[in-house]
Amino acid sequence: MNPTMLQTPIAYLKGVGPNRADSLKSELGIHVYQDLLNLFPHRYIDKTQYYKIGQLQKSNADVQIIGKIVHIKTVEQKKGTRLVARFQDDTGDMELVWFRGQKWIRENLKLNIPYVIFGKCNVFNTTFSMPHPEMELLSEHEKGLKVHMQPVYPSTEKLSNKGVTNRVIGKLLQQLFVETKGKFSETLSDGLLHELKLISRSEALYSIHFPKTQELLAKAQFRLKFEELFYLQMQLIAKNMLHKQKIKGFPFDQVGEGFNDFYANKLPFELTNAQKRVIKEIRSDLGSNAQMNRLLQGDVGSGKTIVAVMAMLLAIDNGFQACLMAPTEILATQHYQGISDLLKDTSVSCALLTGSVKKSARKPIHEQLENGELNILIGTHALLEDKVKFKNLGLAIIDEQHRFGVAQRSKLWHKNEYPPHILVMTATPIPRTLAMSLYGDLDISVIDELPPGRKPIKTVHRFDSNRLKVFRFIRDEIKKGRQIYIVYPLIQESEALDYKDLMDGYESIARDFPPPEFQISIVHGQMKPADKEYEMQRFVKGETQIMVATTVIEVGVNVPNASVMIIESAERFGLSQLHQLRGRVGRGADQSFCILMTGHKLSAESKTRLETMVRTNDGFEIAEVDLKLRGPGDIMGTQQSGILNLKIADIVKDNDILKTARFYAMRLLKDDPSLEKPENLIIRHSYAQLVKYKNIWNYIS
Ligand code: ADP
Ligand code: MG
Repeated sequence: MNPTMLQTPIAYLKGVGPNRADSLKSELGIHVYQDLLNLFPHRYIDKTQYYKIGQLQKSNADVQIIGKIVHIKTVEQKKGTRLVARFQDDTGDMELVWFRGQKWIRENLKLNIPYVIFGKCNVFNTTFSMPHPEMELLSEHEKGLKVHMQPVYPSTEKLSNKGVTNRVIGKLLQQLFVETKGKFSETLSDGLLHELKLISRSEALYSIHFPKTQELLAKAQFRLKFEELFYLQMQLIAKNMLHKQKIKGFPFDQVGEGFNDFYANKLPFELTNAQKRVIKEIRSDLGSNAQMNRLLQGDVGSGKTIVAVMAMLLAIDNGFQACLMAPTEILATQHYQGISDLLKDTSVSCALLTGSVKKSARKPIHEQLENGELNILIGTHALLEDKVKFKNLGLAIIDEQHRFGVAQRSKLWHKNEYPPHILVMTATPIPRTLAMSLYGDLDISVIDELPPGRKPIKTVHRFDSNRLKVFRFIRDEIKKGRQIYIVYPLIQESEALDYKDLMDGYESIARDFPPPEFQISIVHGQMKPADKEYEMQRFVKGETQIMVATTVIEVGVNVPNASVMIIESAERFGLSQLHQLRGRVGRGADQSFCILMTGHKLSAESKTRLETMVRTNDGFEIAEVDLKLRGPGDIMGTQQSGILNLKIADIVKDNDILKTARFYAMRLLKDDPSLEKPENLIIRHSYAQLVKYKNIWNYIS
């Protein structure tokens, strides 16, 4: 078949016409034949059974019945009307009921002619009724392709009201298969089909829409899911390879004095093996001619900062500047302080630029940046302002990247003649499986080891009714010289209420922990940055023992002496947020604790989250549970990634297929990067088609 035929507007398909075409477009995004072909059923119903009305039971199973409509009437009800038909077979009768689309149904239903109906039954007194049944004339039903498992297509109420029911969609697909003769061009090479024992694309598309057996359906699903994930991976891997070939980076070919001196004399601690490995990976990227585009994942407290510093030293040794961008003012400030401290005995100059840096203080920063006196600039979004011009930016490090969009990342990129090397650091572990799809275009480094001597944080779940005991525990810890975080949720929609909770909580804590013995800091989003900073600093310096806060402290803040994290209304936090918060403690040598406070009423999902937190400290394990609970849609980065637009595969459920697909895509591109070999022509062609007809891929930075 001519592949362009699948680009025919859907209105030309027999049985569609302009009106239905409009509905298909607006409701299901079906514009051309291809879109309909790729409208995959989300479930199947076994239609091998027929029931008699006399056999019906009170159950919620879907049933299929053959009978005739003998009477039809419109019944007035409190609001509007309903349409009721009496439906009979040789064992009894029942009612069919419609609330919507009555006009169309009334005009189109035929009396005293056998129909096959399908749906769920309700029972009132002793009468069974079926609301909005799927219906088909028995004669049509017998003529139709012998479908054993009935596909159920994604549909909308609007569509079925306009008569475009599941059955109609099935019919349109039958028509599409007639017009195209069911022949669709293959998209995978013979080699792959053979090696993976895949059925052909035409066979798969037929069986996905008209499955004859469970087995054929399974084969069809596997084949189509594999294909989809394979090309997703091809895009990502190819992008990455291309990047390496075409996008030149400044080669940092010397490991110079600054780096070596720091490594030999200034490191405040022995690096972990994981840190050493990651620094090596970064060094080898920076030493090559290609621009680095690397994601550094490491759980909270795993020691990403020192890695960032060593990478910046490499840039400086080679005559370049470096910048580090963080999502919040507090975090940027803390990075600035920490990094200045690490570099205090070196000749490296370092400045902080955030929204609240005064104009007068900005000017010298701008100047020194442009004349090259300044080596490192640390800051927030303020770094992206047009006024900020580097003399020669060689390395940009972005902390907690999920808070920056792709557009912002590329803005940094355009600050220079050549793109700087990019290192993206995140403490939100992205499940390995998802990382492949989200960041397949980046190289990934993982710090999977915590610095030595850390005691795992003990996590417990306590009900609000145990608050007195918890307070007693806090008092004991403070006596030992420790500091405490108490965190309240702040969810945008209920901001006013959350704010009240926070203030009420603060007051009750202040009553139980009165001055002068106890000092309390409070930090929340409605405070001025300067006040926040002041309160933070009091806590950092140990002047206050308790920090009451909303989630503004979630990211990055480092107070090693804080050993207790209390999370109020913990059931309202997502797993990754809970994990981030917990990571604020356990940074010193002392045993640390995380106490999750909740009321007694908890949803099943909340319980799972709390149990997971109590069970494990492993960020990756938590991320996997999170992915299963929430699906990929809520995970940062997925929105732009295209994985939510997958037609048939599910990034979570089809993880094994994803791995297989990635393996084969990788192998293929390593062996034949430009897909020149004759046996790969078919893949090259399909790939080109994909890029031509879909543009969901252009998210990639
Ligand atoms: P994160 O990965 O969360 O950004 P940081 O870089 O802030 O972690 O490091 C957390 C803490 O661990 C800091 O106090 C840091 O000084 C310390 N640290 C980092 N690496 C090591 C190490 N190899 N040995 C001992 N302490 C370390
Ligand atoms: Mg950090």
